[in-house]
Amino acid sequence: MTQLYDLHCHSTASDGALSPTDLVKRAAENGVTILAITDHDTTSGIFEAQTCANLLGITLINGIEISAQWEKLGIHIVGLNIDPENSTLQNVIAQLHIMRTERAEKISQKLAKKGISNALESVQKVASNEMITRVHFANFLVSQAYVSSISEAFDRYLGDGKVAYVSTVWTPLETAVQAIRTAGGVAVLAHPLRYKLTATRLKKLLSVFKNAGGQGIEVVTGRYNPDEMRVLANYAMQFELAGSMGSDFHSPINQWLELGKLAPLPEKIKPIWELWQ
Ligand code: AMP
Ligand code: MN
Ligand code: MN
Ligand code: MN
Repeated sequence: MTQLYDLHCHSTASDGALSPTDLVKRAAENGVTILAITDHDTTSGIFEAQTCANLLGITLINGIEISAQWEKLGIHIVGLNIDPENSTLQNVIAQLHIMRTERAEKISQKLAKKGISNALESVQKVASNEMITRVHFANFLVSQAYVSSISEAFDRYLGDGKVAYVSTVWTPLETAVQAIRTAGGVAVLAHPLRYKLTATRLKKLLSVFKNAGGQGIEVVTGRYNPDEMRVLANYAMQFELAGSMGSDFHSPINQWLELGKLAPLPEKIKPIWELWQ
């Protein structure tokens, strides 16, 4: 049987629109046979996703997308095939929870200065005890009609350098990679072209990531672009990293980015799943 992999997506445990159950259902409907749920800085959606995956007969890979710091840059490291109960990993998650809570308070204060009150209370209600992300604030701003779209919320308030932007120093890259490895997982550099780095800087990042114990790089992402895929495949080979593929699905509203709608991994690339099979 040919497998269809999607190894990057989000549920309501972080900034996704669908519950873990609905996420797994949608993936199965789209023909995905092996799905990794990779919420930002949390493993709390995994249990529910696993329950649904068992019912539907699709394979769930335990995953996470850790917010990490490399020099002045915030990057994302996907951990695949992790043990979600591992204490080293859970310690990193606990730290990130504190950082995100403190950041949310500051974002709310900045919004209050612009005359937008009750942001923190509102997002806390939606996120309950989960990770609060900027997407939660964006949804709040849309729901209160301060902006008409999520992208406007980022453009006017939440994006880097905008009026309610709060910079954060995330988990050091080395700590994030080591926590994933200690939890039995493989560390994958997520969407390497989204950091807007020059080729020289990206190669520096890849070599630092590799030396820290990173084993994979996302080669196939939801926004299919053959030129970008070629560039990423070349980096994978140059740095001897396995290739991963994932849609980074967040919400059905974003119609050009769908679970399982992915180009195949280029044949010359070692698939990341060979590292845990
Ligand atoms: P955070 O990790 O809390 O800083 O939130 C970052 C998340 O916001 C990302 O994972 C994306 O899902 C989302 N995001 C970032 N920039 C934008 C944007 N311009 N429009 C829509 N969503 C965005
Ligand atoms: Mn996100
Ligand atoms: Mn990401
Ligand atoms: Mn993601």
